[in-house]
Amino acid sequence: MKILAEKTILATGGIGGLYEKSTNVRHLTGDAIAIAIKHKIELKDLSYIQIHPTTFYHKDGDDSCFLISESVRGEGAKLYDKNMQPFVNELLPRDIVTQAILKQMAIDQTEFVWEDLRPIPKKELQEHFPTIVNHCLKMGYNPYEECIPVVPAQHYFMGGIKVNLNSQTSMSNLYAVGETACNGVHGKNRLASNSLLESLVFAKRAAQHIKKSFSKTNEFPRCFDDNDINFYSNKSELEKYYKDLVLSKIEEDKLRKERTPINISIKSKNHLKTSI
Ligand SMILES: Cc1cc2nc3c(=O)[nH]c(=O)nc-3n(C[C@H](O)[C@H](O)[C@H](O)COP(=O)(O)OP(=O)(O)OC[C@H]3O[C@@H](n4cnc5c(N)ncnc54)[C@H](O)[C@@H]3O)c2cc1C
Repeated sequence: MKILAEKTILATGGIGGLYEKSTNVRHLTGDAIAIAIKHKIELKDLSYIQIHPTTFYHKDGDDSCFLISESVRGEGAKLYDKNMQPFVNELLPRDIVTQAILKQMAIDQTEFVWEDLRPIPKKELQEHFPTIVNHCLKMGYNPYEECIPVVPAQHYFMGGIKVNLNSQTSMSNLYAVGETACNGVHGKNRLASNSLLESLVFAKRAAQHIKKSFSKTNEFPRCFDDNDINFYSNKSELEKYYKDLVLSKIEEDKLRKERTPINISIKSKNHLKTSI
C-alpha cells in the first residue's frame, strides 16, 4: 500500500466507544491507537483514562452519555445516596468523586446516585445551565423541583500515542495530535477544560514543524509497503480486531503500573521546590 503523503497526522480523538458508558460519540474507538500498536509505534500511559463522575443516567442508553458538568456542583449542586443522604464532598477532584459514587452505588445496590440542582437559585440555573435544564426536562425530570439520576462515565483519554513537543511520534514523518496523542501534559488526571491544549497548541506545533521540514519532493516515504489490503475489507471484523487490540494494551499498561507503583516522598517544602 502506498501512503501518498510525505507527512501524516493521526487525529482520531478519544476511546469512549470502547466503553459501555461514555460522554464520547460511539464511533470514537481509538483506531489510531490500534494502528500504532500494529506498527509498533510507541505508546504512553494507555491506562490513564478519566471517568467523569456525573452524567445523566438513563436505562436504555446506547448513545453517548449526557454530561452534567461539574460547574453545577461548583454553584452548589449536591450529591445524595438512595436515602437522600450526602456521602461525598462534591468539590473534590473528578477521580475521587467518581470512586465515591461507584462505592456508594455498590453499597446501595443502585445504578445511579442523585444530584440535586435545587440549591442553585432558579434564575441562575436557567441562565447559566440552559442545556442541562432542557436535557433533564426532555428526559422527564424537572431539575427545579426534583433530584436527577447521575452515573459516572468514561470521558477523556490522557494516555495515547507517545509524542514529543512537536507532536512527532516514534515513526518518522508520522505525527499525532489531540486526544489520541500523549505528550504527558495531563499526567494521570486531566483538569477540566484544558484538553484544547492538545488540540490547539500541540496541533499548531505539529503544523509548524511540518512546514519547516517539508521538502516539496515527489519522493514519498513507503511506511506501510508490506500491508495486506485484504485485511481492511471486512469492516466489522476490523472494528472488533482494533477494539480488542486497544483494550488488551490498556489492560497490559494497567497491570504493569500496578506492579510498579510510583512512590513520591516529599521531604520538605524546600525539597519540593528544588525538585520542581
Ligand atoms: C461532552 C464533552 C464535553 C467536553 N468538554 C470539554 C471542555 O469543556 N473543555 C475542554 O477542553 N475539553 C472538553 N472535552 C474534551 C474535548 O472535547 C476533546 O478532548 C477534544 O474535542 C478532542 O479533539 P480531537 O480533535 O482530538 O478529537 P475529535 O474532536 O473527537 O475528532 C476526532 C475525529 O476523528 C474522526 N475519526 C475517528 N476515528 C476515525 C477513523 N477510523 N477514520 C476516520 N476518522 C475517524 C472522528 O469522526 C472525529 O471527527 C469534552 C468532551 C466531551 C465528550
